[in-house]
Amino acid sequence: NRELILVAYANEGPVTDSHLKIRETQLDLGSVGKDGSSGDVAVQNLWISVDPYLRHLMKESDDGLYLPSFRLNQAIRSILVGKVVASANPAFEVGDIVSGFYQVAEYAIVPGGDLRKIDTSVVKPSDYLGILGMPALTAWAGFTIVGEAKPGDEVFVSAAAGSVGMLVGQLAKIKGCRVVGSAGSDQKVKLLKEFGFDDAFNYKSETDLDAALSRYFPRGIDIYFDNVGGRMLEAVLNHINMKARIPVCGMISQYNQEWKQRFGVRNLLNLVGKCAKMEGFMSGQYHHRMGEFFEEMTGYIKQGKIKYKEDVKVGLDSFLEAFNYMFTGENIGKPVIYLGPP
Ligand code: NDP
Repeated sequence: NRELILVAYANEGPVTDSHLKIRETQLDLGSVGKDGSSGDVAVQNLWISVDPYLRHLMKESDDGLYLPSFRLNQAIRSILVGKVVASANPAFEVGDIVSGFYQVAEYAIVPGGDLRKIDTSVVKPSDYLGILGMPALTAWAGFTIVGEAKPGDEVFVSAAAGSVGMLVGQLAKIKGCRVVGSAGSDQKVKLLKEFGFDDAFNYKSETDLDAALSRYFPRGIDIYFDNVGGRMLEAVLNHINMKARIPVCGMISQYNQEWKQRFGVRNLLNLVGKCAKMEGFMSGQYHHRMGEFFEEMTGYIKQGKIKYKEDVKVGLDSFLEAFNYMFTGENIGKPVIYLGPP
């Protein structure tokens, strides 16, 4: 078996192969079915989700998300989809397709309580990592609940072509808002227009973000779905309307910096005069709304109202590249790794 382990914390700068390494291990999958008492399940992994929050778990301290760091010399974890190959748990049978947050490896032995069976008869397995998974729950909860979206709102989304952003924009259209997205390349801008965004711009070719926002939002911004923080957040704060909402989903522009080196937003006072709300949130807070979320999203998928793009890489060896692409913007769509079988 091959697993991905963290050998050194990456507190600053990009994660490299001096932090993350592949280790060969012996895993006795046959032992799992024999002892019915453990409740463990042996899984052959098919898909790995690659997400920005993993960056925080590769640091020694919690870094704002207050999630426990990965332990050194142990397999890192992520959300995976796999196929049961042996089970000592009555809830799972060989052949079941399952998902959970567990070891990033080709095979894993996982406590049954950490897994849930998924139905892949209508949607494909990797959809549970994207359009029906954590990024979609984040987009749905962040936009509709935290953002208190209503028809007619002027909505701005950053990292709009990403896993979360592309869904926020499409939900905004479904809910009757006007939405503009920013992204880091002309190719992504084109994609956003294909997804039905009213407009989109490449923030890397705008020398003055403040001027760009004046052009794209002559009536101001009611909801800013913040994925990036930093300079973009500061620029947006000059364009918010009265009672604006800013769901703070993430601040990826700052994750590779130690906190004292990060961009200091200078105009937070604008929140006061505009009686605006800026609220951080975690998708995990909304697990109790999963049923409602799932029903709404599957409805949109069946009606063809929502598009989704994946950025698929193959094999455990591609993890580091896929991971770093999220910080350079080279991913186009939700990054996932396919482990096979073909
Ligand atoms: P994406 O698929 O959007 O990938 C990250 C994108 O961020 C890149 O493609 C890049 O796009 C953009 N980016 C990277 N560096 C910068 C920078 N310096 N300035 C501006 N943009 C940058 O990732 P996700 O959709 O998975 O995540 C988006 C955000 O949502 C992240 O901040 C993440 O941490 C957060 N998140 C929060 C959750 C929660 O529960 N609160 C759950 C899931 C995600 P581009 O080409 O446009 O620059």
